[in-house]
Parts: sequence; structure tokens; C-alpha cells
Amino acid sequence: MCIFCKIVNEEIPAAVVYSDDDVIAFRDLHPKAPLHVLIIPRRHISSVNDVEADDAAVLGRLFVAARAVAESEGVAKSGYRLVMNTGSHAGQTVDHIHLHILAGRAMSWPPG
Ligand code: 5GP
Ligand code: ZN
Repeated sequence: MCIFCKIVNEEIPAAVVYSDDDVIAFRDLHPKAPLHVLIIPRRHISSVNDVEADDAAVLGRLFVAARAVAESEGVAKSGYRLVMNTGSHAGQTVDHIHLHILAGRAMSWPPG
């Protein structure tokens, strides 16, 4: 079982900031910004390369959760970046699809 599935199953702890039937969001262990939360589907999907048509609804729920987290963490107005890394060139290190929400400082573009 992957590390994020273990977080879903509460086999390893995480600082959960949002949870519903489809999705949970928890603070990144190594934050890259003052706010760094990972939003994941409870059901294991490895990456965008594995997304199927039937996954559309749960993936949409990631964005509903992102809005909720941005509001509850007080960054909706100042802004935030949503990132989903796929594969080695993008720096994906955990093979359970996840949406990063990064906020609390100005960010540069393009990303490194
Ligand atoms: P990726 O590099 O795959 O886009 O993002 C994976 C993220 O998961 C990294 O930012 C990393 O810090 C975070 N991470 C890895 N293992 C754990 C863990 O056990 N708990 C938490 N909360 N975050 C983790
Ligand atoms: Zn998983």
C-alpha cells in the first residue's frame, strides 16, 4: 500500500485540514511555502497518466476541496498555486495523485 493510502487509512499520522467522503487534505511534511497542503482522492490513482473517464468526478472534488482549504487557511484573497506533478521530469515522488496547494508568499513563474 502506498504512503498516501496509509494516511487515508490512518495507519500513519498526518495533519488533516479537510476531509470528505472522496478526498482528504493534509499538511505537507516538508513545506515549500508558509501554507503547503496536499489534496488527494481517498481512492488510489497513481498519476495523471492513469486517469480514467470514471475518475472525473473525484478529481473535480480535489478542486472543490482546494477552494475550501484556501478559504479556511485564509489565502483565498492573497492567492495560491495549485500544482500536480506527473512523472520524473516534473518531480513526482509519491505515486498517489495529489494536488499541491502552496500559498503565503509571492511565487515566481515559470517554475524551476
Ligand atoms: P510530489 O513530489 O510527488 O509532487 O509531492 C509529494 C509530496 O509529499 C512532497 O512535497 C513531500 O514533502 C510530501 N510527503 C512525502 N511523504 C509524506 C508523508 O509521509 N507525509 C506528508 N504529510 N507529506 C509527505
Ligand atoms: Zn495510494
